Amino acid sequence: MYKASCLCGAVKFHLHGTIKNIIFCHCSQCRKAQGSAFAANGIVNKTDFEFIQGENNLSTYESSPGQTRYFCTTCGAPIMSQNIKAPEQIRIRLGTIESDITEKPMAHIFSTSKANWEDICGDLPQYPEYEPGR
Ligand SMILES: [Zn+2]
Ligand SMILES: [Zn+2]
Repeated sequence: MYKASCLCGAVKFHLHGTIKNIIFCHCSQCRKAQGSAFAANGIVNKTDFEFIQGENNLSTYESSPGQTRYFCTTCGAPIMSQNIKAPEQIRIRLGTIESDITEKPMAHIFSTSKANWEDICGDLPQYPEYEPGR
């Protein structure tokens, strides 16, 4: 089980299953949403996601049709996103997780959209768009 929360602590949740398809997304939307070079995201089953508190303290933004990003209304921390094409999944922002996680990242995606000031390092595969299979 993983414990997670936003920056101010108003939003707290637990993850009861494994985190799948951990990727670093370098697309321009993720860069702006995180205020950083990339987003670190992983998928959890909606049935494995449990709000402890603060569900009503989330704001949403539909960044592209059917794709909704959730963030804390108080501190602005990005929490997760959901796509209507995969309603059984939640895409978690991994920086919210307080515990060490056992799953490993699998890829960099939208690598050719990266900021010109970023060097992508390491041995993970880099894909110009989504990872294969999405
Ligand atoms: Zn917060
Ligand atoms: Zn992205």
